[in-house]
Amino acid sequence: MAATIINGKKVSNEIKEELKIKVDALKAKGITPGLAAVLIGEDPASATYVRSKAKACEKIGVYSEVIRRSADITAEELISIIEDLNGREEIDGILVQSPLPKHIDEQAMTLLIDPKKDVDGFHPFNVGMTLIGQPTFQSCTPYGIMELLRRYEIDPSGKEVVILGRSNIVGKPMGAMLVQKAKGANATVTTAHSRTKGFPEVCRRADILIAAIGQPEFVKGDWIKDAAVVIDVGINRVEDASKEKGYRLCGDVDFAECEKKASFITPVPGGVGPMTIAMLLTNTVKSAQRRLLL
Ligand code: NDP
Repeated sequence: MAATIINGKKVSNEIKEELKIKVDALKAKGITPGLAAVLIGEDPASATYVRSKAKACEKIGVYSEVIRRSADITAEELISIIEDLNGREEIDGILVQSPLPKHIDEQAMTLLIDPKKDVDGFHPFNVGMTLIGQPTFQSCTPYGIMELLRRYEIDPSGKEVVILGRSNIVGKPMGAMLVQKAKGANATVTTAHSRTKGFPEVCRRADILIAAIGQPEFVKGDWIKDAAVVIDVGINRVEDASKEKGYRLCGDVDFAECEKKASFITPVPGGVGPMTIAMLLTNTVKSAQRRLLL
């Protein structure tokens, strides 16, 4: 049985169209949602992410501002940029693009962002709200995965979900969302990581397998239960001389092998990736809607 390919690009475009209607309604009331991205240094991948976020904003009518600074920025300078953005009424969302230079404490910067503008959903306040099932801004990648499951009518309730990876931005919030006593959740969650023993056996338990470890094509076809749902978060570059750029992108899952056994599977690219930006926009529009109450 060939798996149904979960088309994240298509779903993200649908979400953007829905958001555009909300943005137009806000604009009719004099509110233009605004997202500010702070980009430090010359990391090409970060620059690409920030560019695609700005482009997505433009597409749905959200004001976007990119603040660029060199890698030798001091912590004080960055603090002052964040504080300024916290205070600007026309900015509803702030994101500080990771990674930051080594001399800057990334967690300390996250703590400085006003939780009401933390559209990445990384501030401990918002992480905590997700954990207790009262989400404000949810971490965009796992939030996007929840949305993909919902729109493909894949109900995690009562299912064994195995999450590979325990990062603060993907693995941990993913588990917190899926374990909630709530519609679209109610899963039995296992989180595996580098200290987990018997990775293949743990994976084989999964009705829904979510891979977020950053290891190219790590999950093999015989680790997958028949008809499992496979969600691949990984974005890895592997050398490929046949490509013009000299590399190709792949996920954490061996797609060719797993596609044969899965019932649903996300491709890389075009699966989870586009959803992350769609949910960032969702959070930004939600943040702007709060201005209606002021
Ligand atoms: P991190 O590097 O922060 O975390 C990786 C996790 O995987 C850790 O928990 C680590 O275990 C575990 N891990 C790493 N190697 C192994 C291994 N060989 N066996 C078992 N466990 C392992 O990664 P992120 O969560 O930030 O990202 C994961 C992947 O998802 C990356 O490819 C990233 O590019 C991609 N990503 C994609 C996004 C999207 O929009 N599609 C958004 C965010 C990330 P331990 O904790 O023990 O070290």
